[in-house]
Amino acid sequence: MTSTQPPTPPARPRPSPDEQSGPYWAGLREGRVPIQACTACGRRRFPPTPGCPYCADPGIRWEEAAGTGTVYSFITVHRAFDPAFADDVPYDIATIDLDGGGRMVGRVTGPTRIGARVFPEFVDQGDWSELRFRAEEEA
Ligand SMILES: [Zn+2]
Repeated sequence: MTSTQPPTPPARPRPSPDEQSGPYWAGLREGRVPIQACTACGRRRFPPTPGCPYCADPGIRWEEAAGTGTVYSFITVHRAFDPAFADDVPYDIATIDLDGGGRMVGRVTGPTRIGARVFPEFVDQGDWSELRFRAEEEA
């Protein structure tokens, strides 16, 4: 007989890499920021998808993004959607316009504001790495 007891504290959700997202998660583990680009129109896209959301072409090319960029928009999470994040609130989730093209979503640390410059941070979550962004202090 097996019993499953809820972990304490609650387990955080974790990624489930698949054919599309596997290269992304593997890259984060190595401190890289892989991003899909379309072989037909060249536009970068995130999250990884089997086809281009802009031109519908199925061609995929992986590019290395610097992970630097600019905050396009953000929200501050005041109420955790999952009890596993209750100790983290408040925190910011932003849409980042990446240098070199493409837009990603991720947690931002530091003084988040629209237009802030951000840099990648790789947070070790045990057997996977989370990409976060650190906002640059205003001069
Ligand atoms: Zn395309």
